[in-house]
Amino acid sequence: MIAPQKSWGRFLIACIVFSLPIGCAKQIQHLSQATDTRIVTVCILNDTVAPADLNIVQTVMKEIAIEYYQHVGIALEIVTWATYAGDLGSWDLDQGILLRRICGETSDIRIVFSNQEISQADFEIFAKENADSSKEPSILGASSNSYFGYILVYETDRRFTENTMWSESKLLVVLRHEIGHLFYLDHTHNAKSFMYPSLFESEGLWTQGTRKQLLENKYIARWFPNF
Ligand SMILES: [Zn+2]
Repeated sequence: MIAPQKSWGRFLIACIVFSLPIGCAKQIQHLSQATDTRIVTVCILNDTVAPADLNIVQTVMKEIAIEYYQHVGIALEIVTWATYAGDLGSWDLDQGILLRRICGETSDIRIVFSNQEISQADFEIFAKENADSSKEPSILGASSNSYFGYILVYETDRRFTENTMWSESKLLVVLRHEIGHLFYLDHTHNAKSFMYPSLFESEGLWTQGTRKQLLENKYIARWFPNF
């Protein structure tokens, strides 16, 4: 059991289940021509300990970038590809500074893809968040921090190939959810929304309420150190 010290107050958003966007640069550049678009630059990092399949990363980032643009006008644009050799379980402050140092100053947010299992990450808060841990103890898909602007995705390849009960890739829903956290969205009690905290029970949908919140926070969200 764990020490809540890792949760780092209100800035830590841990998701048990979920995880989010980047995409084909050409498409994003095209899409960002639209009005009322906020471009959010992204640094993608692949874990050297247990690397994710880059084809999977590219595929899911492309999909998530398109839907975030289409639903709320947020254009996720990958500007940096890097490798990550850090500790996925380290403190948020250390993690945030390390990721910022690796990615440089050109990216607004950072997303680490790993094939490590959650048991190696040791986040008690995830177990508490999990609405149905009895079905799958290792349910954590990712974690995120809206202050430092990063997402850690675990078991990337496996999540990609597994589908939710609503026949969507779990990895896609996880990313949809974690990106929502980066835009300051909290969990909801509406199981239709992708902001519902259990991947097993959430339908993973873009609900009216979730879309409204994202639109409200679209230009408000800022991440370390650019406030
Ligand atoms: Zn969450």
